[in-house]
Amino acid sequence: ITDKINQLSADEPFFSFEFFPPKTEHGTRNLYARLGRMSLMGPLFVTVTWGAGGTTAEKSLGLAITCQKELGLTTCLHLTCTNTTREVIDEALHAAKANGIRNILALRGDPSREASASHGLGEFEHAVDLVKYIRKQYGNYFCIGVAGYPEGHADGFYDASQNPKKDMPFLVEKINAGADFVLTQLFFDVDSFLSFNKLLRSQPDLRNKDITVIPGLMPINNYGVFQRATKLSHASIPDSVLDRFDEEIQNDDDKVKEIGVSLINEMIKEIYEKTDGKIKGFHFYTLNLEKSIAQIVNQSPILSKVVEKKEKELEQCVSDSSD
Ligand code: FAD
Repeated sequence: ITDKINQLSADEPFFSFEFFPPKTEHGTRNLYARLGRMSLMGPLFVTVTWGAGGTTAEKSLGLAITCQKELGLTTCLHLTCTNTTREVIDEALHAAKANGIRNILALRGDPSREASASHGLGEFEHAVDLVKYIRKQYGNYFCIGVAGYPEGHADGFYDASQNPKKDMPFLVEKINAGADFVLTQLFFDVDSFLSFNKLLRSQPDLRNKDITVIPGLMPINNYGVFQRATKLSHASIPDSVLDRFDEEIQNDDDKVKEIGVSLINEMIKEIYEKTDGKIKGFHFYTLNLEKSIAQIVNQSPILSKVVEKKEKELEQCVSDSSD
């Protein structure tokens, strides 16, 4: 991923998509069809989530391998390390390497209630332990991403309060242990993201490393899902955002989507402009849905350049093959 970012020209934007493995075969078939279409938008990479404790190991690997090998997409496999065994982690890393996957998002995951109660978190207590383990076992084969929290991480077991300053030394520790990029939790408060980015870059222990930070954005497809997802992710919703969704339109999904698309594009523009184009890549929590994402990237003055470039490449491919 970072090699691909470094190959872009200085002001060339990019975007990426997160997918989760569907539970049913029918869902998987639908997702594969959607993935084929979404790959034509030109994401720089895609990521595939991992069920904490390895609960989706087989399905996550299957989806990641399809993305990498069949669709030719640069793929990043999420991997969690708490409440699991070294064998599960070894198997996942081995399968990823054997199938040409070169990117891992190294996460802690959430400890189960039982493990938390007994402190039985295993040999990997924090995400940094997984970053170190991957580097030790695989050297520089994998490009490693880690999670960042613009509004602070709310830890159900250790400390439920949120404070980005509290997490910062641990994020720096993950980077210094070998992480190459930071993917953030979803947020709607742009100021929080900008302060988080500034705070990270001001850390003396980072030793001037110009770490890539990719903001995570979630399209709003449905008002109820938006409320639930922000609550689960401990993301605040500024009044200026809430005010956009009048009570009478909250049940009108088309209208909610339309407002959501404008809102996300305003966030992208603000982040891009306020960081002088230094933050030029955006990661979408797609929830495996296509429509809003397509509207966002096509309507964004910044990201539509990526789609246009991809279209030109495809046209060139077609004309080359018909010559
Ligand atoms: P860590 O970096 O270990 O941090 C967890 C907490 O511990 C923080 O509060 C931190 O401040 C503290 N901490 C860290 N290191 C230390 C230390 N050395 N000493 C003391 N305290 C420390 N979950 C899944 O189950 N599957 C997924 O696919 C998934 N994908 C995600 C993708 C993204 C982009 C993000 C942001 C989160 C994702 N999560 C996923 C959720 C994630 O697993 C949880 O948020 C989890 O609670 C924390 O994981 P972490 O990697 O940030 O942990």
